[in-house]
Amino acid sequence: MESSIGLSIPRSWWYTALLGLFAAALLPWIAHQIRRFPQNRCALDGAEVDPAVAVHIVSRQDGLSQFCSITCAERWLRASRVLPLEIRVVDESTGIELNTADAFYVRSQIVAHAPTRERRHVFGSLEEAQRHADDHFGRILPQDERPFAEWTGRSRQPDENPSSAH
Ligand SMILES: [Zn+2]
Repeated sequence: MESSIGLSIPRSWWYTALLGLFAAALLPWIAHQIRRFPQNRCALDGAEVDPAVAVHIVSRQDGLSQFCSITCAERWLRASRVLPLEIRVVDESTGIELNTADAFYVRSQIVAHAPTRERRHVFGSLEEAQRHADDHFGRILPQDERPFAEWTGRSRQPDENPSSAH
């Protein structure tokens, strides 16, 4: 079915203009709505952040940034070229946040974060990591395959880690 509305009607210009004005007026409002809840939103795609799989990055340029997944955090680091001072991930078995350097990463058949189809899991203990790997056809990622390997390698210096990031 074809619609003939608006093709040759002179008034359509006004309609379009009004619609444009309305959209322009709406944009700041939308931006404001997004900024109202920054603590719940991923800094890359604006998706809601599940604290159980959240990633936090501290950088000089942006302060504390939050991400919904490892995937988003890595994409953001690549795109922004920010040099991270600290990257924190959440231990899947305890829910406790830890530095990426202290985490064991397991890639398995279980999806850790559905929206990004992330299959890399975070564990604070080697025992838990190995158990997950054994149970779900996974493997503990070696150094060069670990998430954030390209940033933590050169930026991790004990002096640069802020003691608290609130
Ligand atoms: Zn995201």
